Amino acid sequence: MKDKLIKYCNSIGIEKVGISDIGPYEDLKKILINREKKGYVTGLEGANIEERINPKLTMKDVKSIIVCLFPYHVEEEKGANISNYTYSKDYHYIAHEKLNLIGEYLIEEIKGFKYQAYVDMGPLVDRYLGYRAGLGFFGINAHLINDDYGTYFFIGYIINNHFFEYDKPLQRTCYQCMRCVKACPGQIILGNFDINPVRCRSFITQKKKDLDELDKKIIKKDNIIFGCDICQNVCPHNKGIDITRMEEFKENLIFKLDYDEIKGMSNKGFKRKYGDRAFAWRGRKVIKRNYEVINDIKIED
Ligand code: SF4
Ligand code: SF4
Repeated sequence: MKDKLIKYCNSIGIEKVGISDIGPYEDLKKILINREKKGYVTGLEGANIEERINPKLTMKDVKSIIVCLFPYHVEEEKGANISNYTYSKDYHYIAHEKLNLIGEYLIEEIKGFKYQAYVDMGPLVDRYLGYRAGLGFFGINAHLINDDYGTYFFIGYIINNHFFEYDKPLQRTCYQCMRCVKACPGQIILGNFDINPVRCRSFITQKKKDLDELDKKIIKKDNIIFGCDICQNVCPHNKGIDITRMEEFKENLIFKLDYDEIKGMSNKGFKRKYGDRAFAWRGRKVIKRNYEVINDIKIED
C-alpha cells in the first residue's frame, strides 16, 4: 500500500513523501522543555508539550504519519519586499487541498481508514516529523534541509490509523559553515541547531503588539516587510536548488507590496484583496507599520 500511496502522491504533484513513526518522541520532548525553561517561545507554538510529542493524544489509534513536502522556490522578481514563502496564494489552502485528496484516496483504498491532516497549525512539530520521515536533515538555522529543495518548502502531515512502513531519519546535518549565524539580524541562531525565536526578525514582522526599540533595530536591518529569509538565503544548501514543480506555487504571484496602496486602503479592502495570502494573516496595520519602521517613515494611523 505504501507504493500505491507514493504513486498517488506523485500523481497530484507531491514528489517528497515519507512516513514518520508515532512516538512519543522523547528526544523532542527534551528540546521543547529546554526551550520553555529558557524562554525561547513566542506563544505561537502549541502550549501542551505532551500533545506535541505524542500523536496518540490526537488520534488514539494512530499507526503512522504521512509527511509531505511542498516546495515553493521560484525565480524571484527584483525588488521583492515580502518573504518568498508568501509570493503565492496562502500555502495552507494549497497544501490542505492536496492532503485531503490523499486522505480521500486512502478512504477509498483502505477499509476503515481515518485521518487528520495538518499544515503548520497542527498539534505536532512539522519539521521534526519531516526529519523522522527521512525527508531532510537539520541545519544550524533550525530549518529542515532537503537535498533537492534546500529549505524552501512547507510541510504537511496526515495522522492516520493505517500502518505504512516507517522511513528512517537521515543521519546527517548541514555543512555547519555558520554563515546563517553571522548573517542573522537578530543574532538569535544559537549554534546548536536551535534558535531563540523571540527576537527573530520574521516573528517581529508578525507581531501585533507594539515593537520595542530592539525589535525596530532588528527589522530595519533588511527591506523585507513581512518575514525574513536571511538565514535561508545565505545557506549553501540553497544554492542551485530546484524551482518548485507545483504549479500552484508558480501562479498568481505577488512579490512586492506598495506602501501608498496599503496606506490608502481600509482594513476590509486589504482583506478583500489580499485575504487569501499568507502575509495578510496579521492584517493591514502590521504590514504598514513594518514598512514605516524599515523606511523611517513617521508612523501614522
Ligand atoms: S529568520 Fe531572520 S531573524 Fe529569524 S533566525 Fe533566520 S535570519 Fe535570524
Ligand atoms: S548557513 Fe551554514 S551553518 Fe547555517 S544552516 Fe546552512 S550550512 Fe548550516
